[in-house]
Amino acid sequence: MKYQIIPVTPFQQNCSLIWCEKTKRAAVVDPGGNIDRIQNEVVKLGLVLEKILLTHGHIDHVGGAKALAKAANIPIIGPHIADKFWIENLPKQSQNFGFPHCDAFEPEQYLQDGDIVNLGEQRLSVLHCPGHTPGHIAFFSAQSQLAWVGDVLFRSSIGRTDFPQSNHQDLIHSITEKLWPLGAEVAFIPGHGPMSTFGEEREHNPFVADQLLR
Ligand SMILES: [Zn+2]
Ligand SMILES: [Zn+2]
Repeated sequence: MKYQIIPVTPFQQNCSLIWCEKTKRAAVVDPGGNIDRIQNEVVKLGLVLEKILLTHGHIDHVGGAKALAKAANIPIIGPHIADKFWIENLPKQSQNFGFPHCDAFEPEQYLQDGDIVNLGEQRLSVLHCPGHTPGHIAFFSAQSQLAWVGDVLFRSSIGRTDFPQSNHQDLIHSITEKLWPLGAEVAFIPGHGPMSTFGEEREHNPFVADQLLR
């Protein structure tokens, strides 16, 4: 799986354009906003945009989804249905976070743990990772040893759990029982900030390093 990170919104959210090199079929993970920038990259790279994938329902991750879906005539897929309330709450989220007004929408498809998303000849597996939000999911490419983890895990940090229906214990469980088993070598693209690997975080992350949880 090829990818390019396109930071979007005032929150510098790591929107990712991902594609199958062979077929040029592409998806956008978490288009929080700045959809012109995303569409320009699609054209520049000669890709065929096929779908939008969402990790969770926070506005910095989904704020541009509906507009992009409409402009490119592509479906919105994900997150898990437990984040439906966040997506329905988008008009309020846009007010609270000082974003341009954003309408609620209904994804074409919600995803569940164990689902597979195909993109050309590439496959992503879906992991349900509740905690930051109840319907948060991560996408994993076994072929590329790469994961998109949204706001579950960051380099040297973890997702906030001070939102409605957040749960700190669930978050820790998602990280240690869903992400760690993918392998220490796996690199991940977090929702914000620089990339890292699961192995690096198991050693040095001040919240979830192995030695802290023992
Ligand atoms: Zn979030
Ligand atoms: Zn975020």
